[in-house]
Amino acid sequence: LGSPGPIGRQTLEVAAACGHRVLALTAHHNIALLEQQARTFHPILAAAADPTAAAALAMRLSDTDIRVLAGEEGVLAAARLPQADTAVTALVGIAGLAPTLAAIDSGKRIALANKETLVCAGPLVMARAREKGAEIVPVDSEHSAIFQSLQGSSPKELRRILLTASGGPFFGWSREALEGVTPARALQHPNWSMGAKVTIDSATLMNKGLELLEAMSLFDVPEKIQILIHRESILHSAVEYCDNSVIAQLGDPDMRLPIQYALSWPDRTPGPARPLDLLSVGKLTFAQPDLKTFRCLALAIRAAREGGTAPAILNGANEVAVERFLAGKIGFLQIPQVVEAALDTVPRAAALTLESIQAADQAARRAAARAAEG
Ligand code: MG
Repeated sequence: LGSPGPIGRQTLEVAAACGHRVLALTAHHNIALLEQQARTFHPILAAAADPTAAAALAMRLSDTDIRVLAGEEGVLAAARLPQADTAVTALVGIAGLAPTLAAIDSGKRIALANKETLVCAGPLVMARAREKGAEIVPVDSEHSAIFQSLQGSSPKELRRILLTASGGPFFGWSREALEGVTPARALQHPNWSMGAKVTIDSATLMNKGLELLEAMSLFDVPEKIQILIHRESILHSAVEYCDNSVIAQLGDPDMRLPIQYALSWPDRTPGPARPLDLLSVGKLTFAQPDLKTFRCLALAIRAAREGGTAPAILNGANEVAVERFLAGKIGFLQIPQVVEAALDTVPRAAALTLESIQAADQAARRAAARAAEG
């Protein structure tokens, strides 16, 4: 799901290298690349969420026997495709929630790359997965590292999680220096090549806040999660056990590795990622995140403490704030201001349901849009 995006493209590289069959491909509107991918991988079906794009895709693929579906329903049909045993959810934002639930309902393994799904609806998604017997294997590099570090241990031996963060392109910068940051500058990430949304989230440290929320849903840990800035992006996260042993997963920063593991787990297979050369890395460093300068992370911690619909409000407001920043409508330091305005004003729902999450998301978007105007 979301095959033209960066995770989608790397998933197809892994599929080609490791011999996985690709049965469905979906896009929002990037049908030029979707067509190319469909011609290479010959899926049973291809879907575009945008109906106009889907009509054009049907024309482009009319000389093949690939079924082309349109709209949200088309994406859901791909998520449910009975012949597939795994769904790679690489959609961006809360748009990934409904297709992820559809794939869970059909009992598939979820190779989860859409972190907003767990951020907004973690308890709901995890309960549904347990009920349907669907495995959730994280693709996010940090969560894959935690998942890998937990293999062969019992949950009751676990004490805490050490979640690492690259610190983004503005590590060590002051608020004054951040004032004039442009979208082009913020899109240059030192270690990872990712989509625009997650790259901006990495620059504001909101990405780590969302990952904190994601980790809280995925893993049951008694003590709080420690966030560590780790500039080298080699140690992708770790877990600490009750005997004070720390087990970590290390590797070259390459998303193909966690994608491949999510597809092959519990087995490991040779793959396209480069081997790690620790001698050329030289040293690994760790530092405390600066919550005063990078306020998005502090806001995410606030939403995590509160729970309920607060994370959905945080996420919805952040999606709007990032979009406005990329469009040149607001400054870099206004991103946390817009998110905070939504957290301060949007009423909380009493119960966590799909409806209350969607309502919180919509209300947060309206509040964020107002804050971005003002
Ligand atoms: Mg990550």
